Amino acid sequence: PPLPAAQVRSTFLDFFRDKHGHLLVPSSPVRPRGDPSLLFVNAGMNQFKPIFLGTADPRSEMASYHRVVNSQKCVRAGGKHNDLEDVGRDGYHHTFFEMLGNWSFGDYFKVGGALYCTWSRPTGEGGASVCNCVMSGGGVSDGVLVLGTLTTSVLLRVPPARVLPFGLKDNFWEMGDTGPCGPCTEIHYDHVGGRDARTLVNMDSPDVVEIWNLVFIQYNREVDQSLRLLPRFSVDTGMGLERLTGVLQGRRSNYDTDLFTPLLHAIQQRSGAGPYAGRTGTADEGQVDLAYRVVADHIRTLSVCIADGVHPGMSGAELVLRRILRRAVRFCIEVLKAPQGALASLVPTVTYMLVKYISHNASELGESGRRFCFWFWFWSEWSGTNCPVCVSASVAWSLHRDLGFPLDLVDLMLAERGVQVDRQELDRLIQQAGVSSRLMLDVLSLAALQRVGVPHTDDSLKYAYRLEDGRYVFPAC
Ligand code: ATP
Ligand code: MG
Ligand code: MG
Ligand code: MG
Repeated sequence: PPLPAAQVRSTFLDFFRDKHGHLLVPSSPVRPRGDPSLLFVNAGMNQFKPIFLGTADPRSEMASYHRVVNSQKCVRAGGKHNDLEDVGRDGYHHTFFEMLGNWSFGDYFKVGGALYCTWSRPTGEGGASVCNCVMSGGGVSDGVLVLGTLTTSVLLRVPPARVLPFGLKDNFWEMGDTGPCGPCTEIHYDHVGGRDARTLVNMDSPDVVEIWNLVFIQYNREVDQSLRLLPRFSVDTGMGLERLTGVLQGRRSNYDTDLFTPLLHAIQQRSGAGPYAGRTGTADEGQVDLAYRVVADHIRTLSVCIADGVHPGMSGAELVLRRILRRAVRFCIEVLKAPQGALASLVPTVTYMLVKYISHNASELGESGRRFCFWFWFWSEWSGTNCPVCVSASVAWSLHRDLGFPLDLVDLMLAERGVQVDRQELDRLIQQAGVSSRLMLDVLSLAALQRVGVPHTDDSLKYAYRLEDGRYVFPAC
């Protein structure tokens, strides 16, 4: 039986930790901490940026890192690495994915242990065969910066014939417009196999997919775009868990692995469409399978981002998330013929599957959990459709106070729907909150919800939301 994804992940982490003395570091949240150059965390190396730059606080734990390994949740939508447009069209670009990686900070470098470690993984115990792997790394456009074909072949201990030369675009990795960067080699997997690498013309196709990128961080890209040599050299690698799992489970599309199939099944149960059939391009009539992939991808991204405190909003990362939400709602309703609220109802499935990452939120399924679901309800219903709604200041206030919506956002969302909030009354409520009792707020919020037609037993807000006979109902979450 194919290796389940959870085992693929743990095998990688254990390999570096147990066999090669790497410290296992947890994933950072997808919201970048104190790095305005990024919208979302887009690679495993992001959280280590201060180490690469030599700016880590010497008293911090990070300053003592020499070799580490981790599995990082990444979002690539907006910014330098923007894969949003590819999602659904192919089976291996997601907006949210996990990046497995190992690092050396001034420890091993090119000829050192790095590639001995890295190389044995995708080819060794996992089952993918060496002859299916194709490297890139020829110094075509800039012999100084890019690894030469021969160097790559020596480092990776593969015949030069398996190394293909490419330019800066593929063989010089950069985090963003500024930041640590360096020459790299990309390891691709040829799903067809047994072919002469030099005959492969398209290295980015469902047949030949990049799985692992090994970067030799030597420079920092400065604001004026010049390259500054860093005080010490580091190794940075990144491999998509979804793609590696695809290879190890013998699937060309990541959506056919156990990281996605339960989710696709859950989507089908809620939609009016036939089962997911994995079609692409013109074979995919009505773009039904594309919609399945988009929705499965986007709901993962939304769930992880919201759990990490990035909410759909009006600027920066939050605006990107809002676009993702709208896209998901549109595909759900228009293409998959799912009822309103279907998207929100997928959250528990995602939470279950990515429990490692969103459990800290989901386990508080009292307070923050209902907030979590409510966000989905609010956005997928109110911002996706046009039901006329009249909202009083007290509704706005209860959304904020009881459900954790930022007030300015409530304001904007309502304004977008042509609904005005009585500002004076709202200000009065905000002032009054300083002294009012919790009980009073509860009464207020219940009254407010009743005004917009939401039934309000004490438990009702714990659940996601759907429309039935013109009334809003909260099914089990
Ligand atoms: P590609 O060329 O396929 O777009 P990349 O070169 O942009 O990938 P890297 O920045 O090198 O990707 O990231 C390291 C690894 O992370 C890749 O080798 C791949 O396995 C994985 N990866 C990158 N982008 C995605 C994505 N959008 N979805 C899933 N996995 C990804
Ligand atoms: Mg890319
Ligand atoms: Mg690439
Ligand atoms: Mg790459």
